[in-house]
Amino acid sequence: MESPPLIVAPASPGATYRALQPEIDAAVAHALGSGWYILGTEGRSFETEFAAWLGTAHAVGCGNGTDALALALRGLGIGPGCAVATVSHTAVATVAAIEMAGATPVLLDIDPATYTLDPAALAALLDKPPVGLPPIRAVIAVHLYGQAADLDAILPLCERHAVVLVEDCAQAHGATLHGKRLSNFGEVACFSFYPTKNLGALGDGGAVATADPALAAELAALRQYGWRQHYVSDVVGINSRLDELQAAILRAKLLHLDAGNARRGAIAEVYDAALADGPVAPPARRADGTHVFHQYVIRVRDRAAVQAALRAQGIGTGVHYPVPVHLQPAYRGRVALGPTGCQATEAAAAEVLSLPMYPELTEAEVARVAAALRTLH
Ligand SMILES: *Cc1c(COP(=O)(O)O)cnc(C)c1O
Repeated sequence: MESPPLIVAPASPGATYRALQPEIDAAVAHALGSGWYILGTEGRSFETEFAAWLGTAHAVGCGNGTDALALALRGLGIGPGCAVATVSHTAVATVAAIEMAGATPVLLDIDPATYTLDPAALAALLDKPPVGLPPIRAVIAVHLYGQAADLDAILPLCERHAVVLVEDCAQAHGATLHGKRLSNFGEVACFSFYPTKNLGALGDGGAVATADPALAAELAALRQYGWRQHYVSDVVGINSRLDELQAAILRAKLLHLDAGNARRGAIAEVYDAALADGPVAPPARRADGTHVFHQYVIRVRDRAAVQAALRAQGIGTGVHYPVPVHLQPAYRGRVALGPTGCQATEAAAAEVLSLPMYPELTEAEVARVAAALRTLH
């Protein structure tokens, strides 16, 4: 008997494209025919529509999520001589962006239940910063895997210590806390539209969202050579623009994002039920917010064996992330850690496992993953 086809995991941008192909192809054809390919009406319309969808005033498109974070820091005046705190359990991009802005990263541990910034680690850092570290000017809270970091505890700490909150929303398009979409809590929020994200382009893309019109104007200048008007660089900028093709694709896909997130939630419920009463716990969800399941992540002690067993049943998996940033060759021994270390991060990195999760999974595929999860009992 032929084995069932492998479920590409944990994401499948090609499946998302095929599901929306007529609309995306039409949007691309329209953008191609317009004769204008960088910073035109598609980009402006996407910025307006995405900001409205978030419930904020401004979104400024840029080249990718890493640039979004670096631009946000620069726009806030955070660079050389400033430290920025974030987690080590994140896409390396979060930390790379801090150094791109010229600032010094300091990496903190996570809460092992939600995999997001441990407020106690942040409090310990702000109370007693390591000797020799520049003043801490910002915290990047990463809303990892699709749900909010513990902003109820983080925001008061930021206020007390006069530290700016930047939200890394690259995995949390549309997730909420207390009924508000993430991006509405910090001074500024950064998004990636990498193809596998909940809202993905068919290439690179990113955006910075903010309620502050002055900051939005500064970001619009910084992303294009520091121009406020053509050919006049008021500040030293970079080139990081969202192109018209990607903006057109994102406009088409934005119309389906709520449905896609809802489908992810429904798939998560099937996986939760399959894991119920077994030895592997389903992912913890915050009671005060919604989770958009960018990843559905379980924790297993014998990860390689579980991955092999699932693969034998035609189910691919992923690991986000196998090596914490502070242990990667480019950062190891060089990047500062907070006073409480990164033990929960290191433990999680050895055990996290991402299951197939994208809206286009068929009912049969979801059932197949659920059946396999029951064999873990
Ligand atoms: C994807 C991602 C980024 C970086 O986005 P790019 O578009 O790849 O530059 C930053 N932070 C997090 C948490 C991400 O998942």
